[in-house]
Amino acid sequence: MSDRDYSDRSDRDDRGEHSERGEGGRRFFSAPRVCQFCTDHSTKIDFKNVDLLRRYIQDDGKIRPRRQTGACAKHQREIAVAVKRARHLALLTYTGEILR
Ligand SMILES: [Zn+2]
Repeated sequence: MSDRDYSDRSDRDDRGEHSERGEGGRRFFSAPRVCQFCTDHSTKIDFKNVDLLRRYIQDDGKIRPRRQTGACAKHQREIAVAVKRARHLALLTYTGEILR
């Protein structure tokens, strides 16, 4: 009679569960998850639409990266082209200084 104690201790603790969600500093206001122009077809990307374009550039005049704008590749490209055209026509600044 070997009374082995089959203490079935299957308490495997899941170690190695190091879920680091390194999202970095999220200090930008959250961009919409889907592209604005894909959802809203009435919004057209136009270099004359300065008010729109201004939302897609930074304070220093740079075009915002896609992770900030939330635009898809196609529309982000259109934004970039439109911004560059607007810059050329002096509707937007190359630098950030918006002197009135
Ligand atoms: Zn899009």
